[in-house]
Amino acid sequence: MPDTPAAPKPVSANTTARKQAEDVLADIEASPSPYHCVTRAAELLTAAGFEAVAREARLPTAAGGYFTIHGGALVAWRLTDASTNGYCVVGAHTDSPNLRLRARPDVSSAGWSQVGVETYGGLLLNSWLDRDLGFAGRVTVRGSHGPAETLIREDRPVLRVPQLAIHLDREIRDKGLLLNPQQHLTPLWALGDAGEGDVLAYVADLADVSADAVLAWELMAFDTQPPAIVGRDEDLVASARIDNQLSCFAATRALADLDGARSSRIPVLALYDHEEVGSASSTGAAGGFLANLLERISAAKGVDRVGHLEALASSIVVSADGAHATHPNYADKHEPNHHIDVNGGVVIKRNANQRYATDAESEGFMRQVCADADIPVQTYIHRNDLPCGSTIGPITAAELAVPTVDLGAPQLAMHSVREMAGVADIGFLTGALAGAWAAS
Ligand code: ZN
Repeated sequence: MPDTPAAPKPVSANTTARKQAEDVLADIEASPSPYHCVTRAAELLTAAGFEAVAREARLPTAAGGYFTIHGGALVAWRLTDASTNGYCVVGAHTDSPNLRLRARPDVSSAGWSQVGVETYGGLLLNSWLDRDLGFAGRVTVRGSHGPAETLIREDRPVLRVPQLAIHLDREIRDKGLLLNPQQHLTPLWALGDAGEGDVLAYVADLADVSADAVLAWELMAFDTQPPAIVGRDEDLVASARIDNQLSCFAATRALADLDGARSSRIPVLALYDHEEVGSASSTGAAGGFLANLLERISAAKGVDRVGHLEALASSIVVSADGAHATHPNYADKHEPNHHIDVNGGVVIKRNANQRYATDAESEGFMRQVCADADIPVQTYIHRNDLPCGSTIGPITAAELAVPTVDLGAPQLAMHSVREMAGVADIGFLTGALAGAWAAS
């Protein structure tokens, strides 16, 4: 050890990168559910002059930016008066693994009131223990003109899942922590037995309606600890939902700032829900939401069905989702020749078995974009002896038959309630997505 500690390094020297990271972290904090995520994205786009279009409305034909929302999904696009040649779609997903409130959530056990939950997606169960949890989502309420939707968000840390004390779990040292998702993940929220309708009454209060006006809900727990810039050199970020709201907001901000006049392909942003559970839903990548909208955009431009298929044949998709950085404590879990550094640049993901959609054509497009913008690129390949995850890329590629590149910012602790990524990588990803649209 040196006698005197080394002088601390200056805070993240690149103030632009830090500002980009702070903006995206503020977006993530504003988005405890997919519904809040698309609402935040809509706010950013509206501030940039985009107009909301109702899901069922005839699409506008005039030059301008537009978006439409469907549940936890959003598609935005930008029309110019110039003739266009296909679409450049940037896709990402709004959902993250979490705990979701059951329809009948009132649970009593051992003198406690608890809130029954379903596990959603491939969550790291242990990461939800001993966290101060709020809950948020959407509630459908009875309205004078039919059902209406309202977003709610309880920021008070009303839920908590305490871990069993080590003295009562003597096997934990030998066998590790074993959690049964049905038995061990039910949050506590009050002392005393639960009454039927307790959670409903609480939700109704948050929604500012009477309990009998609540028709349905999709509500989920979230970690109330705000995102932070961390690490000795303040060049890392820690936050919930880095996978994949980091990509959602990097993409949304890139589109909001885009100079659309240069694009020959129509820039499109597709934020999907339900990636963490396989994407097969009306708002997921395997649904027809994007394909139908692209066809409607073509029609709004006066392009017939054949012209639309020709436009698709000239299109490209960039699928943005989190990438695994090499974990220093588990370096043996990674393919040794494809080391991934945090703050090392955008990660292009390849998989011979098509768990990622990247092919030589789409990778070439993206490498040229990044080279032209001076953005470093890394290449992720999964080990052969571990099953590889997947993302919306292959699903979108199959749905549209369009060359697709899977890429993302490197991160650690994917699917933890609190994940980690790099400050500089947020700027690199934003620049790469903006570059893809601008180069198209
Ligand atoms: Zn993801």
